[in-house]
Amino acid sequence: MYKRTDVKVWFACNNYCTFCVQGDKRFKFQPRKLEEIRNILDTEYNDGCKYVVFTGWEPTVHPNLVEAVAYAKQIGFKQIQIQSNGTTFHDVDYTKSLIAAGVTEFSPSIHWFHAETHDTQVQTPWAWKKVIKGLIVLKQLNQIIIINSVITKDNYREAPELAALLLKIGVNQFQFAFVHILWSAAKNKETVVPRKSDVIPYIHKALDLAKKHGVPAYTEAIPYCLMQGYEWAIAENIMPETSVIDAEYKIDSYADYRWSEWKAKRKDCKKCSKNDVCEGPWKEYPEIYGWDEFTPV
Ligand code: SF4
Repeated sequence: MYKRTDVKVWFACNNYCTFCVQGDKRFKFQPRKLEEIRNILDTEYNDGCKYVVFTGWEPTVHPNLVEAVAYAKQIGFKQIQIQSNGTTFHDVDYTKSLIAAGVTEFSPSIHWFHAETHDTQVQTPWAWKKVIKGLIVLKQLNQIIIINSVITKDNYREAPELAALLLKIGVNQFQFAFVHILWSAAKNKETVVPRKSDVIPYIHKALDLAKKHGVPAYTEAIPYCLMQGYEWAIAENIMPETSVIDAEYKIDSYADYRWSEWKAKRKDCKKCSKNDVCEGPWKEYPEIYGWDEFTPV
């Protein structure tokens, strides 16, 4: 597995997700200039990264994304991913230009099965239709598709239907990420953050479907005590060592950052057989729902 770097190319976006974790950065920061992106890629490559994820808010609205991808390929990155809200891949010419430049995998998001559920959450009309059209284009162009879907109060009941749809389209992998309770998600926490034990039966059903079809599927930010029998699907176990190049700072190790800054454990976790490998929930979660759901294994 290659060491990875997540490069945020800028913070503009064509969606306004109710659960966005990038807050008001879109009003603060200009797009990174191509020269700056090239310098970042040089530094991260020399630091041992061979896998780059272009992200941001929405990287595909950056005017120089194609050139940035071409540069990453030219200097030797082996794996090049575009992490996106998925609303631009329906443009066949643009998607072909990304592939020609060197993209090796696409990671669009879909939030979830029903168009209305998705569009209400991303607060953009017709967004779901564009994402689905984009997935079809990516399939027709034989691309690797890795889906990310954020679990919220509005959508979790649709997990099994969404899994069935993604399997029908033929994606290569999908992941359900429990909403990270920061920025917009924190502001909207009453309406956005579900109780994990309500979510679990639906997520497990979706994982069962993926397993039956032999398609890798994962969850993020759901601890082992709620994933018994489904430990194979815990995404934190397969995440490569990753640096994150944010607007004003760099995180050298995303894993260390999650353990030290973003996740939390209860006192009783010390008695748990998974304590050494489990990161616990996002630290804001027990402030809403307490610790009762997390029983040591
Ligand atoms: S009890 Fe704590 S350490 Fe054990 S699985 Fe749950 S959150 Fe993780």
